[in-house]
Amino acid sequence: MSNKLRPVRGMKDLLPEDFYHQDEIVNTSKRISELYGYKPIETPILEQTNVFARTLGDNSDVVSKEMYSFEDRGGDSITLRPEFTASIMRSFISNSLFHDLPLKYFSSGPLFRYDRPQAGRQRQFHQINFEYLGAEGPLADAETIKLAMDIFDSLGIRKDFTLELNSLGSNESRQKYLDALREYFTKYKSDLSEDSAKRLEKNPLRILDSKDEKDQEMGRDAPLIHEYYSDECKNFFDDLQNYLNIFNVEYKINPRLVRGLDYYCHTAFEFTTDKLGAQSAIGGGGRYDALSKIMGGPEVPAIGFAAGIERIMLLRENYKSESKRPITIIPIGDENIEYSLNLADKLRDSKKQTILIHKGKIAKRMEKANKQNAKYAIIIGSDEIKAGKYNVKDMDQGIEKKLTEQEILEL
Ligand code: AMP
Repeated sequence: MSNKLRPVRGMKDLLPEDFYHQDEIVNTSKRISELYGYKPIETPILEQTNVFARTLGDNSDVVSKEMYSFEDRGGDSITLRPEFTASIMRSFISNSLFHDLPLKYFSSGPLFRYDRPQAGRQRQFHQINFEYLGAEGPLADAETIKLAMDIFDSLGIRKDFTLELNSLGSNESRQKYLDALREYFTKYKSDLSEDSAKRLEKNPLRILDSKDEKDQEMGRDAPLIHEYYSDECKNFFDDLQNYLNIFNVEYKINPRLVRGLDYYCHTAFEFTTDKLGAQSAIGGGGRYDALSKIMGGPEVPAIGFAAGIERIMLLRENYKSESKRPITIIPIGDENIEYSLNLADKLRDSKKQTILIHKGKIAKRMEKANKQNAKYAIIIGSDEIKAGKYNVKDMDQGIEKKLTEQEILEL
């Protein structure tokens, strides 16, 4: 075993090129969400464990297997956030923002899940996330989905995925459906995977989400949620589809799309791609009218969605950042450093990226300037300072010109 230092398994350094890429994705999402009235919000990366344990449902994969939870030095159980929604609802409740509804929040940042790392799946990953609290009716859902579409359009990846859509119905019809599912799967109880057998009592909906092939096989003839819709559920879903048609948003209804967490109702959606192998989901979301109440707040209808930044980056594999090209200053001799520092200062004041290369042979320093992708290299010697004219090499054309300080500042 080598004792070389390396990052924790499933966690990656974000080197500059990827950092620029991530920044662009985040800034584009934030800018477009602002057109819909979203505002940025940041909550702590650590929360008390019960913020997630109580809300996501004890038998969800995230809570039972994937959370990074530990005791802090004071003995409190805290958790690195595995998702945004519960943190943002916690923030809404702890800041008592009940009279400010509707609220639309954009967030981005790292999340942590102790999952098996593979291409497109990390233990520390990043999301862009959108929550709309006080979201009344299906129009809010249609606008949320359209926002996601606009963002994917701007990022140039809309062509890469399908929007899958389903309705989980109201809480009442969902309860009826859960009973029917429980009855259905009880017949197969002894054949279900260990995880699914545990889900049978508490949330059989999640058996439909199972990745186990045998579970999937058994789920094939399970009852479907739409058989249990009330008129209200049907109208909600019809209206949503009408609004999506007005927005020209294409979708495919997937009656088996349930989304794993306990608090969803009505609208559920997912963006899936066939371009990333096993990790087909780029993002998804849904309506969670029950969450605020579960967390001790008032009843607040709400909808949100999140998308994984790493997976978006994989889809945009040809991305190249617009690299900034610096001006390099090469002083000859220590006596010219003072002038060189002052010149660098003035160039930076006029928003030009400036790099000083002050040690080594001139030829070597020119090589370094080239490596930095410099646009110009300015050589500062005593004679040049006396004459007030400096040798400026245009690195693309290989030509040297003599320029005054004023001319350099205007480069
Ligand atoms: P979820 O919060 O599970 O609905 O995930 C929303 C999106 O986050 C997914 O569609 C993925 O794009 C991304 N995602 C979830 N888990 C991971 C992970 N472990 N590594 C990378 N991306 C992830």
